[in-house]
Amino acid sequence: MKKIYVTQPYLPPLEEFIPYLEQIWESKWLTNGGPFHQELESKLADYLGVEHLALFANGTLALVTALKSLRIAGEVITTPFSFVASAHSLLWNGIKPVFVDIHPETFNLDPDKIEAAITPHTSAILPVHVYGHPCDVERIEKIADTYGLKVIYDAAHAFGVGYKGQSLLRNGDLSILSFHATKVFNTFEGGAIICPDAKTKKRIDDLKNFGYAGEVTVVATGINAKMNEVQAAFGLLQLKHVDKAIGRRHKIDAQYREQLSSVSGITCPPLPADTTHNYSYFPILIEKEYLLLRDELNDRLRQNGIYARRYFYPLISEFPMYRGLPSAVKANLPFARKKADQVLCLPIYPDLENESIARITSIIKNIGS
Ligand SMILES: *Cc1c(COP(=O)(O)O)cnc(C)c1O
Repeated sequence: MKKIYVTQPYLPPLEEFIPYLEQIWESKWLTNGGPFHQELESKLADYLGVEHLALFANGTLALVTALKSLRIAGEVITTPFSFVASAHSLLWNGIKPVFVDIHPETFNLDPDKIEAAITPHTSAILPVHVYGHPCDVERIEKIADTYGLKVIYDAAHAFGVGYKGQSLLRNGDLSILSFHATKVFNTFEGGAIICPDAKTKKRIDDLKNFGYAGEVTVVATGINAKMNEVQAAFGLLQLKHVDKAIGRRHKIDAQYREQLSSVSGITCPPLPADTTHNYSYFPILIEKEYLLLRDELNDRLRQNGIYARRYFYPLISEFPMYRGLPSAVKANLPFARKKADQVLCLPIYPDLENESIARITSIIKNIGS
């Protein structure tokens, strides 16, 4: 039985990558801001519709460095409904995470609950555009302005997402992307920080290179988070194919919605309005009326070789290094807990075949028959 995973990296034809490798072999420039790195920074900024962007070895180091670059300290308000790296980036900076519940329809931080979590120690908000669906950026940034807080978006799911006619990534003080193999656009491992101006980018570029601000000048406790030339070259090739890849994701999304529309107890959260989507995930919610619980359905799919994923279960606030925090108590996070128990993300990736989609939806439809 062919196994179908929740995602599969998009790989362009191998022969298209060979000329890039030949160029690297010829120049012997392997890392440290080489020609492919420079070209990818400028082409990605154009593609995404942002001013500046600093490439990183991965998204987690981009998050850690983004917080460091803005000298964020004390407490930061964030969501428990995310991948663990969101909150880990706070602990790596010695910052205390303060978890706030999500909105039940958007799966993102609920702006109505943010103000109650602000204390004199709060310095920033770290929201996540979960599944690439935009946070309520207007309200979040209004609250941030009122209280003098920074906003750093974990936009790891939001490659290429547009909101109200411009890039979603232009919001907040900084946004970070992940180019991990499992994401819509990948460089095997990789990431980026979207920077509003050249000065911010310079500081971030120094921080990702040990804090060097010149050949013999070290100005900060930087880290080594540089993207290498092989990754950057792969990104340039991937960029040529990414519109096609997102186009195929769109078709898969539409097929799932159509085929699952009449299944009692299964809901497909609608795509948010005013948004250009990247179809990075396909979450469904398993409600009470369905014949199986979420985990039972997940097991049934696995028995058929289909490896869906429970993004996001468990909540970050349930991991050992977080569960002792006052904001991690269950009563503080009712909607996050509910969604973590109901959600299942179905396979979605450009090479997923129509027959596989039909097989997945027929298993879901025919439970109990
Ligand atoms: C993938 C992901 C990250 C981490 O990115 P890496 O490139 O894997 O380090 C951070 N936050 C979220 C929400 C993610 O999905």
